[in-house]
Amino acid sequence: MLFTTDFLFRNIFYLYPLFKAENVLDAVKYTKELSKLLFHSGNILFVCHVNPDGDAIGSQLALYHYLASKSIIAEMISPNYLQEFLKWMDGAEKINIFIRDREKCKKLIENADLIVMFDFNHSDRLGEAEKYVLKSNAKKVIIDHHLNSEDFVDLIISDTEKCSTSELLHEIVQSVNKEKFMSRPYAEAVYVGIITDTGNFEHGAYSGNTFRIIADILDSGIEKNRIFNLVYNNFSADRLRLKGLALDRRMVVLPEFRTAYIFLTKADMVEYNYKKGDTEGFVNMPLSISGIDFTALFVEKDGFIKLSFRSKGSFSVNDFARVHFKGGGHLNAAGGEHYDTLENTIQYFLKALKSDAPTMDTTI
Ligand code: 5GP
Ligand code: MN
Repeated sequence: MLFTTDFLFRNIFYLYPLFKAENVLDAVKYTKELSKLLFHSGNILFVCHVNPDGDAIGSQLALYHYLASKSIIAEMISPNYLQEFLKWMDGAEKINIFIRDREKCKKLIENADLIVMFDFNHSDRLGEAEKYVLKSNAKKVIIDHHLNSEDFVDLIISDTEKCSTSELLHEIVQSVNKEKFMSRPYAEAVYVGIITDTGNFEHGAYSGNTFRIIADILDSGIEKNRIFNLVYNNFSADRLRLKGLALDRRMVVLPEFRTAYIFLTKADMVEYNYKKGDTEGFVNMPLSISGIDFTALFVEKDGFIKLSFRSKGSFSVNDFARVHFKGGGHLNAAGGEHYDTLENTIQYFLKALKSDAPTMDTTI
């Protein structure tokens, strides 16, 4: 192990105003360490989490474009396919898809000297790539902002107070680079990471710092309306109808548990010509109901159920996901997978609610 930095690093940020001098030194040390790895490794490989969201792809592409500007070309892998609304991003076409090009991806992992991973902190989020990454001899680094890290790499740079991995990555790049770094593809990637993890500044841990970064990005000349349309107004008519179905006939409201959930069956997905990314954001919708602090989305997949959880206020969906579904995430946004039928999964969820639903208004 290079460092056991997760605890230390997170606390650098938490304790920053209290222990300024030491923490500045520590932050410099980790940035230096990462900088050394990035600029003095042979083959560099980036890997994001399975079902990558805008932040996973955004942070990965941002570092790709930064290194490319220094003539260092990293290889990139996503464990599975990208959502449709991310495919337009500059460099997205260079991301190798593990489940499509298994042999090539195994070779990239085997030959890597440095593997940088983005926006997750548990090895099972690597999907099929997990066992190959774990057995690789490459130095491994994680850049992330999730709670409860697992220790399976050499260096973890994580700040759970950042709204997105992309925000953290941007700060790292700015401190690694001698002067302010910005380029169009880089700025777009960081921007997509930030807007998708905050629902276009609707939720999540965005802060004044986030907006200072956004100000720099907007000043650099990115076309924010074009990007908004590519990310949020780029779906099919069927997707809108699927949303209608979800709200009208697949949503169950349980006021006694301050909870609402939505389920979608495989047949629903077929009927509405589901494309990857079509259910993005659905889980947030029932949170707009007064008195509902906790929402869940169950999507039936081949052999398992994909779970998404959201909350308002202090109810921790990270804990709920972790305790009941071996998942995780953030205080107000988490997810997991459950290997059972849709019906059994919902029954299991309802049982979990009996002990662990929010018991009072968590938003005050
Ligand atoms: P989403 O519901 O949008 O898929 O994910 C919400 C948050 O939970 C994200 O930060 C994501 O990284 C995390 N998450 C989603 N699925 C899983 C999972 O299966 N395991 C863990 N540990 N985290 C997950
Ligand atoms: Mn994220």
